[in-house]
Parts: sequence; structure tokens; C-alpha cells
Amino acid sequence: MKRHNFSAGPCVLPQEVLQKSAQAVLDFDNGLSLVEISHRSKAFVDVMENARALVLELLGLEGKGYKALFLQGGASTQFLMVALNLLEKRAGYLNTGTWSDKAIKEAKIYDDIYEVASSKNANFNYIPKGYDIPSDYDYFHCTSNNTIFGTQMKSFPKCDIPLVCDMSSDIFSRTLDFTQFDLIYAGAQKNMGPAGTTLVVIKEDILGKVSRKIPSMMDYKVHLSKSSMFNTPPVFAVYTSMLTLQWLKKLGGISAIEKENEKKASLMYSEIDLNPLFKGFSTKEDRSNMNATFTLTNEDLKETFDTMWQEAGINGLNGHRSVGGYRASMYNALTLDSVKVLVEVMSELERKA
Ligand SMILES: *Cc1c(COP(=O)(O)O)cnc(C)c1O
Repeated sequence: MKRHNFSAGPCVLPQEVLQKSAQAVLDFDNGLSLVEISHRSKAFVDVMENARALVLELLGLEGKGYKALFLQGGASTQFLMVALNLLEKRAGYLNTGTWSDKAIKEAKIYDDIYEVASSKNANFNYIPKGYDIPSDYDYFHCTSNNTIFGTQMKSFPKCDIPLVCDMSSDIFSRTLDFTQFDLIYAGAQKNMGPAGTTLVVIKEDILGKVSRKIPSMMDYKVHLSKSSMFNTPPVFAVYTSMLTLQWLKKLGGISAIEKENEKKASLMYSEIDLNPLFKGFSTKEDRSNMNATFTLTNEDLKETFDTMWQEAGINGLNGHRSVGGYRASMYNALTLDSVKVLVEVMSELERKA
């Protein structure tokens, strides 16, 4: 039986994508498996180029000076690569939770980092607002969606310096003016594909401004000059990501999936707000449409509730240890029907209790 997968990442992918990529592992190109052909073969080079082009098309960034790369090492390696490639004197970071905290820690290895604002004082249950970003900094870094705490930036500060954003857990989930960003990165395994590749979208003209020597594998310019094939790319992860991007395009692109995501989130949050047995974790105005975090108002019901959702075929609902309670991750491929099943279990608990 197919489960209702609310896992925060790696997470649910469209069933048709899984079927096609499973088939490609067996036979991709004339009796050869996707994972045994040369990455330099025409069949795979076409996959890479198709995936890179689809990214720019879906984000509305075609012909605007941007390039897409499929790299390795996860979003966690981008914490370091961003600093290596862009940080000369000082950068500003917005601290909205665990992932921003880690990005700050890596960048600090290279230079001074200024935390422009932080919501640590309230265990990151809101997004700080009204801060200033000094215009003489090298760049400003933020995290669009805080996977662990369930907060999401609804708007981004206007700034005169390059804007860098970790969009690991909400890329391709909502329409935004993506031209406001100069560098976007995202680990594939939250909204795009399997673990193993990380998407980086860069406005090329921000590169080449630091004086340090950059190791080849860490240098965006090297990867760009080799069309994202400087070394053997993670072929399975890139292919599966390409299939997900094709699936999204066929659905009608980001604006179509955004409407679905809004329906799922509003159904989920209205249950959290109306059901007296549950309480939302994050501030209402900053709630994430991807990860809804909530707790039980009466911990004695934990065992009953846990049994109920597990019996309903739900997976991956436990909250992160730094928040506790529950987290319902509602990425692009999770259906509205899955959310209905969860909401039904929550109201059933209210009727029983
Ligand atoms: C999951 C996640 C990361 C870490 O990604 P890895 O690919 O595991 O390195 C970074 N940032 C955000 C916002 C995430 O959700």
C-alpha cells in the first residue's frame, strides 16, 4: 500500500517519476542502465542540459544572465561554497533557524559575518523583520523556508548587494520574482528529486570578485565552464530531478502547484487552529506552506494519536527534536488527499477524547 508520506526530507516524489526512474535504472539507452552509461554519452548530456534548461524556464530566469548547476555535497556544501566564491570582506546573514545557523558557522571560517537579525530568542518561531542590510557588504544570505521550525519568508528585503538564498525546502513551490536573487541553492531531496544532487542557480556576473584561490571542485566558475560536468555528476539524482521538473511543467508550472500547496496548507492550518487538542508552533503570519509544525495541547493523548495516524498509513509526522511535537511536510508531490487523511485523523481524535 502506498503510504501518505509527510516526511521532511528525503520526501515524497510523484509516483510517475519513481516509475520512470526505476525503469531507467534497468534500461535507459538501448539495453544499458542509466547508472552504467557514460555521463559523456549523448543520452546523458541531453538529460543534464534538459534539466538545467527546465530549471531556468520554470523559475522564469531564461535569458536573464542566470545559469543552473547540478552539484554534489548537499546544501551543506553550499554553506561553504557561497562564502568561498563571494565573501571578500564581510557578509550579512539572517538567522532564522538551524540551517541559517550552520550557513553562518561555515562562512565564519573565511571572514567576518554580521548577523543582521535572529529569531533565536523565541526558538525561531518567527521571521525577523525591519532590519538593515549594510550596502557595502559582499552579499546578504537568507533561508526562504525553515524546514525544522516551520516558518517561511513571505517577502525578501530589497538590497543593493547580491541576495543569496537557501531554498532547499520550498524551491518550485510558489511563485516569486526570482530575478531578485543572485544565487539560489537547494538540496534536491526536499522538492525536486532524490538526495545526491544540489541545484545552484547563479547570476553569472556576481562571480570573479574575490581575491582568494578557490579549489576547483569548490569553484562555481569551473563548474559553469564545464556545463556542470567538471567531474562525474550524480546521474541518477539528476535524471530523477529532470523527471520531476517535467512533471511540474506538465501540471502547469509553479503557479499551478502553488494553488495546490495553498489548498493543502490552509486545510492543515485550519484544523490546527480549530481543533482544541492541537496548537501551532510558529507565528501565524510566518507559517510555512511546506512544513506545518504543531504540538498536542494534552501530552497524555500522544500514544493514542500516534497509533491513529500510523494506522491511517501516515509516515514521517514526528517533529524535529529541537521543536518536538509534529511536523507535516507538504511538498509538491504530496496530494491534497493525503492532507485530508491527516486532518480526518486529527478530528477523529477530538471526537474520541
Ligand atoms: C535539508 C536542508 C539543508 C541541508 O541539506 P543537505 O542536502 O542535507 O546538505 C539545508 N538547508 C535547508 C533549508 C534544508 O531544509
